Amino acid sequence: MRFSNLHTHSTFSDGKHSPEAIIKSAIEKNFISIGFSDHSYTACDESYCMRPVQYPAYHAEIRALRDQYKDQIDVLVGLELDAYSVADRADYDYFIASVHYLCAGGDCFPIDHTRLQQEECIARLCHGNRLEMAKRYYDLLVEHVIRSKPDVIGHFDVLTKFGLFDDAGDDYRRVALEALDAAMKACPVVEMNTGAISRKVRTVPYPQDFLLARVLENGGEIILSADSHAKETLDCCFAESVESLRKMGFDHIVYMDASGLHKQEI
Ligand SMILES: [Zn+2]
Ligand SMILES: [Zn+2]
Repeated sequence: MRFSNLHTHSTFSDGKHSPEAIIKSAIEKNFISIGFSDHSYTACDESYCMRPVQYPAYHAEIRALRDQYKDQIDVLVGLELDAYSVADRADYDYFIASVHYLCAGGDCFPIDHTRLQQEECIARLCHGNRLEMAKRYYDLLVEHVIRSKPDVIGHFDVLTKFGLFDDAGDDYRRVALEALDAAMKACPVVEMNTGAISRKVRTVPYPQDFLLARVLENGGEIILSADSHAKETLDCCFAESVESLRKMGFDHIVYMDASGLHKQEI
């Protein structure tokens, strides 16, 4: 099976390798296409993202590489659009909509950087109530997806990264499922994100199986996504992910190339 990855970070944001090194790696892996989704600008944290002034150079470099390698692979220019960012959809082949922060009252709490920061967010922003944090996170994600009209919903339940939520419990699951239903009305494509596996902080992809089952039940689509920050991890755990999707009852996934989204049997 030939793969494709749309969720790729290069040296334009917090990735380790240049776009060209990543494209060469994708060609070696016999990919159908490779898409770049460097981080959009977030004013509350400039440490990992592109500045708006960099966007034109980003477009220019990826488009030049797209032309240079067009006989070997489809190269796409996208953006991982944070909920606190703005960008013009017309400038990109696709958007992945993600939430990385919860901000209020001048404070900005990263969702997926460290466990300590998440605990601070629960304590200071959410009255010590973990379910309240889950509601705030999912409310922001749904609002972002409806407003930004992305092509893909990014790492849907990334807030579970540090194991602080009762993700087997009914209350958490109800909040997450209601959010998934609402978000999928605006964007039916959800990524199965293996990024935390390649960074060795998890052993399973986002989202959890009960959410993947709901994507299937809702008639939505799954796109494999490595959330890759290095050229070696562009297809991390893709074969295993396809196998687990097949076992859950999926008969296809989707991928994107230069002509848009396509179904691929699994
Ligand atoms: Zn992200
Ligand atoms: Zn990412």
